[in-house]
Amino acid sequence: MILHIELKRENHFSPFRLSCSRLEILSIMKIICIGRNYSEHAKELGNKIPDVPVFFCKPDSAVLPKGTPFFIPDWSANIQFEVELVYRIHRLGKNIEYRFAPRYYAEVGLGIDFTARDIQERQKRNGLPWELAKAFDGSAVISQEFISLEDISDRTNIRFSLKKNNQTVQSGHSAGMIFSIDRIIEYISKYMTLKMGDLIFTGTPAGVGPVAVGVVLEGYIEEKKMFRVNIR
Ligand code: ZN
Repeated sequence: MILHIELKRENHFSPFRLSCSRLEILSIMKIICIGRNYSEHAKELGNKIPDVPVFFCKPDSAVLPKGTPFFIPDWSANIQFEVELVYRIHRLGKNIEYRFAPRYYAEVGLGIDFTARDIQERQKRNGLPWELAKAFDGSAVISQEFISLEDISDRTNIRFSLKKNNQTVQSGHSAGMIFSIDRIIEYISKYMTLKMGDLIFTGTPAGVGPVAVGVVLEGYIEEKKMFRVNIR
């Protein structure tokens, strides 16, 4: 009950406040993830370039709590990192037209879509859904901070990267997306109402790879460090 009261108060006083509190992140959003949105990554996994966005969801329980290490689950032998730009929706919308899509977000953050690749391959082979491989606890790393797009010099070409033990393993530019955030919003909102606080993971560039105990992952937008995750 207290949780609900606090949420209401937060929303009442600042409906468009963009750096949501932890409480909001854990309580009210859905996480929508786009697959195969960079052609080099689609190729590295042997997937075809899609005609329309491929998407799946993670539950709120997938969010890795701030400051917590990521513990490799004992049921997978191949957990891989996928660094992705994450956009936060800040108004309610359904059937959003492409040209109006920019009105629905104002900030970008960075995340990791942890994927149990061995499980995903098995699910794909058997024509089954991906949730086992994508929606488990801790599988969504989300930066605490989101950057206003007004503070980014070229919002159509945002540069981001991931370092593994201080070595850059993934780097991408948002211009390399097959489907832009505006196309993604147009497409998803045909099927699902987008709500304030919803998060969209926009797909990963090439260079995904496995994690092991002791690895440190650090994500960057331009030169700004957005998160650090210890693997345990
Ligand atoms: Zn992904």
